[in-house]
Amino acid sequence: MNIHEHQAKDLLRQYGINIPEGKVIFNTNEIELAIASFNAPVLVVKAQIHAGGRGKGGGVEVSKTPADANTYAQAMLGMNLVTKQTGASGKRVQRVYIEPGVNIKKELYLSFVIDRETSNITIIASTEGGMDIEEVAEKHPDKIIKVPINPVTGFQPFHGRRLAKGLKLPLNAKDGIGSLCQKLFRLFVEKDLAMLEINPLVITSDDALIPLDAKISFDDNALFRHPDIQALRDLTEEDPKEIAASKFDLNYVSLDGNIGCMVNGAGLAMATMDIIKLHGGEPANFLDVGGGATKEKVQAAFKIILSDPAVRGILVNIFGGIMRCDVIAQGIVDAAHEMEIHVPVVVRLQGTNVDLGKDILTRSNLNLHTVDSLTDAATTIVNAVKG
Ligand code: ADP
Ligand code: MG
Repeated sequence: MNIHEHQAKDLLRQYGINIPEGKVIFNTNEIELAIASFNAPVLVVKAQIHAGGRGKGGGVEVSKTPADANTYAQAMLGMNLVTKQTGASGKRVQRVYIEPGVNIKKELYLSFVIDRETSNITIIASTEGGMDIEEVAEKHPDKIIKVPINPVTGFQPFHGRRLAKGLKLPLNAKDGIGSLCQKLFRLFVEKDLAMLEINPLVITSDDALIPLDAKISFDDNALFRHPDIQALRDLTEEDPKEIAASKFDLNYVSLDGNIGCMVNGAGLAMATMDIIKLHGGEPANFLDVGGGATKEKVQAAFKIILSDPAVRGILVNIFGGIMRCDVIAQGIVDAAHEMEIHVPVVVRLQGTNVDLGKDILTRSNLNLHTVDSLTDAATTIVNAVKG
């Protein structure tokens, strides 16, 4: 689960981190009062959406007068913001954050991630902050500093010194990075974070370290432990198809292609996406209906796939282990009776009760292509979608 910048900054403040006080606005009639509450000469108006790259897309504006701030906030609320991370359709801005402008001397990059290779929470930092960190990593890998934290001993002062050296921090700011990271590490562990990114962390003109942006993702599997975090969820920022899927306990991730996939088991779902790509197609989604899917789940999965206007064909790839092929087949047939399936469907069933399953499909008189091998399945659907 992701949260907004203003919520992430509230959390950082709870952990004792120095962040200038800001105001979040949901409605244009709140703007004037909010702006009047600041006594800073420069205000920064920031669109709150669950995507980065706002600065370059017109979602972060620096204003020198309250009147300017007002104009920016009015224009931003309700606007459709397109950034590198939103996709071409963009996202509607439903809340705006206003905070004091900070005098920036240097922008740094700082993040905490879980490194599965070393099984550690790892701090990633760079002197090249404020910009696309993926690009820095690609073009100047030497400018990326990695500091793994041993989970047993936790964050230690030497980690801070290593970061201070790597980031070439001015003398005054040197202690700051250690205490900042100590607090961030505690937040990461206590709230079960999956990722925390501060880009930029800035050195101000008086050598203070201040996070100007904050992005946090939580580990969904641990959310049940944190009702305070669950309360921060903004469903309007999530893909409606993914919300529907989570209600039926389906593992669904929306993707950019046009071949809908319905598969049981995450590994088989990955393999299915791979083989579609190998044969020149693009999957529209990852969907794992789970090991013990019911007819209702299969129906729900079909509905979700078909609700995606980009889908031009569907590939059903089921291996019947615990799951029985006849149950899947019946689910498909029932789904087809309930809604109009307007795209070609290729079904590959193998395993438990496969003959029964095929029989149900054949007798249904539905316009389905049944195939036996995974390669046939992929080439058939890729050709059907192209045709
Ligand atoms: P995004 O990453 O979505 O583009 P940021 O919050 O990182 O949004 O803002 C983009 C840039 O705007 C920052 O790199 C920084 O240069 C500037 N900026 C953001 N907030 C402030 C602020 N409070 N004071 C001064 N400059 C800011
Ligand atoms: Mg940023």
